[in-house]
Amino acid sequence: MKAWVARMTEEHPDEDAIQKAGEVLKSGGLAAFPTETVYGLGGNALDAAASKKIYAAKGRPSDNPLIVHIARMEDLETVARNIPENARKLAEACWPGPLTMILEKTEAVPYETTGGLDTVAVRFPSNKIAQALILAAGGFVAAPSANTSGRPSPTTAAHVIEDLGDKIDCILDGGMVDIGLESTIVDFTEGTPMILRPGYLNQEMLEKILGTVKMDPGILAEQPNTRPKAPGMRYRHYAPKADLTIVEGPEKEVVSKIRELAGQQMAQGIRVGIICTDETRTEYSGGDVKSIGARSDEASIARHLYGILREFDDDHVEVIYSEAFDTPKMGQAIMNRLLKAAGHKRLKV
Ligand code: AMP
Ligand code: MG
Repeated sequence: MKAWVARMTEEHPDEDAIQKAGEVLKSGGLAAFPTETVYGLGGNALDAAASKKIYAAKGRPSDNPLIVHIARMEDLETVARNIPENARKLAEACWPGPLTMILEKTEAVPYETTGGLDTVAVRFPSNKIAQALILAAGGFVAAPSANTSGRPSPTTAAHVIEDLGDKIDCILDGGMVDIGLESTIVDFTEGTPMILRPGYLNQEMLEKILGTVKMDPGILAEQPNTRPKAPGMRYRHYAPKADLTIVEGPEKEVVSKIRELAGQQMAQGIRVGIICTDETRTEYSGGDVKSIGARSDEASIARHLYGILREFDDDHVEVIYSEAFDTPKMGQAIMNRLLKAAGHKRLKV
């Protein structure tokens, strides 16, 4: 099977293609679609067989639950129950948007969708193509990122085609995504709300709305050996094929360390990639040097991270050195993904 692809923009959605993709989902098929975070691989969330197909297409371990996407606030009641006041408050403030909430599941959601858990992850995306598709599909779309399990998440339709083009029914191509990192996941099932996966919405922003919000100790960069609560955060994930090391410290020292290490590798004939920023681009000469974006515009760094990791795969580099990106708002989310891509290999200078 080769997926049909329909190109559109949020401003000019292709209504016919969206309806057709909605029918695909209603009849148990799979459709990839853009969201504001990354591309999702959708199936009917209330259909156990569709969820099984998602796991098979991605090669995803079946204990790693899927996020249920909705496009109407009131639909939350169909999939979740005993919803705490705090969760409603956060939904009011952040939905539609890059927020996923973990809540107690209802009978309507099959265990195939929740990876056997009694809790369910729910998100209401802001992307208009995503919203229209969810409604066309009947309101409930289970969608993990539309990549092969273990590869970087897709931020363009081309990435989806590369990984899943012959495994799914169709792809709605809405161009490059906006944020480029997966949604912030907040767990409401164990008392104080806890961030299980950092994203565009950071701890400080959530605390302004909710008061105290905890951070899952398992996802903090400093504790690579603590077990994260979200099953998906336990896998080495987001990974490029090359051996990636992150070099941290003051900019000048980082640049000279990367130059030194890259030089040593290249002298042995090893293909080296370097991830830098617009600000440091001219400091590097040898190797496959790619700027991820500008430090002065952290959104550009988040948006390009996964695409750059894929480009290095295409270039067949064997070793990658990356600067660290502890930027003010999304730094925690960016470094969380980068450290996972590196298997927590980091060097402080
Ligand atoms: P993806 O959609 O590929 O970005 O992955 C979804 C993420 O949500 C994974 O890290 C899952 O482990 C996590 N997740 C989904 N449902 C739950 C749940 N009920 N409890 C905890 N984490 C969840
Ligand atoms: Mg994923």
